[in-house]
Amino acid sequence: MPSHSLPPGLHPDTLAQRVAMERSQYGENSEALYLTSGYVQPSAQTSARRFGGEEEGYTYGRSGNPTVSSFEMRLAAMEGSEAALATSSGMSSIMLMLFSLLKAGDHVLYSQSMFGSTLKLIGSEFARFGVESTAVSQTDLAAWKAAMRPNTQLLFAETPTNPLTEVCDIQALADLAHNAGALLAVDNCFATPALQRPMQMGADIVMHSGTKYLDGQGRVMAGALCASESIMTGKCLPVMKNSGMVLSPFNAWVVLKGLETLDIRMRAQSARAHALALWLEQQPAVERVHYPGLASHPQHALAMKQMSHIGGAIVSFDLKAANAEQARSRAFHVLDSLRVLSLCTNLGDTKTLLTHPASTSHGKLAEAQRQAAGIGQGLIRVAVGLEHVGDMQDDLLRGLDTL
Ligand SMILES: *Cc1c(COP(=O)(O)O)cnc(C)c1O
Repeated sequence: MPSHSLPPGLHPDTLAQRVAMERSQYGENSEALYLTSGYVQPSAQTSARRFGGEEEGYTYGRSGNPTVSSFEMRLAAMEGSEAALATSSGMSSIMLMLFSLLKAGDHVLYSQSMFGSTLKLIGSEFARFGVESTAVSQTDLAAWKAAMRPNTQLLFAETPTNPLTEVCDIQALADLAHNAGALLAVDNCFATPALQRPMQMGADIVMHSGTKYLDGQGRVMAGALCASESIMTGKCLPVMKNSGMVLSPFNAWVVLKGLETLDIRMRAQSARAHALALWLEQQPAVERVHYPGLASHPQHALAMKQMSHIGGAIVSFDLKAANAEQARSRAFHVLDSLRVLSLCTNLGDTKTLLTHPASTSHGKLAEAQRQAAGIGQGLIRVAVGLEHVGDMQDDLLRGLDTL
């Protein structure tokens, strides 16, 4: 489907406002929301040609929708990929990718510190269908190399990771994958294309939870994959049409509008996160702060190089404690003392959200898996929003000062 004819060479911030489907005959300035599950066909002949793939045109909501197309085109432009496919959630975009690219007997190599549901989906659910997998240390390139097998088809990394903000070298992983004839997929949820564009560093597929920063105000679930035309149209689109994990047009419209403010939100929220991280490092009750923008972050230099010299908007910190039980009760105390910020399992909102990963996002992992991912009982994740930093500090002090 054609975009209205924009001149070439526009900058990413312009693309984020302007790339979309052509305006309708009414000339609306804000992109139209097409809530329809079917499309009236102009003739039986045209209908046959559209269903046969010989002519472009919408047929049925599971196969495409103009509002969803606008979101896909805009996200692809922002990531610098040829194409994108929107899905109903971040996890369904991973489902779509695995279903489309793998078969029984194939091997996936992935980071052991990925999002909890990603670990479960690859390590448990897909294992039932004979897809082999190995989880390796996110930051140890030698471990990724050593775990490669002749049947390795896909490398999958998340950088920075949730919740410890571990960073991996995208270019090095892309080289490793390509030398073995495999593909590299990157979960770009934390950095977003405003800060990091993995395809420019060699990644083949970029995966998004649109639920997070792309929406940006915690309203809807959404997901997406970005990749070459041959991967998207050739491999993923047929699976998509038959499996139905499509994004609703309403949610696509919300996320499409979210993309317009992504860049300024990411910069403003990251600046607040950086200030909060520096302050947390000074707090006596805090053992350690995890934030890519801090000089103390183990991959600080690499993170700055890959992420436009900005650390992102997620800060995690470990509380000092004598043992796991005390760590958990201290973390619960800090969270239960909040009066302004939200105790809420989401991220990417303009409202600051705090979580206890060990009992929520990573709660269903076996203790060994959780340990390997480095998620202790005293760990708190702060997804920093747009409130005043002084008010964030005061709200955290309610708990920290009374430990
Ligand atoms: C939330 C999240 C996902 C899953 O996305 P949903 O939209 O919740 O399905 C995947 N990866 C990361 C890094 C996330 O934070």
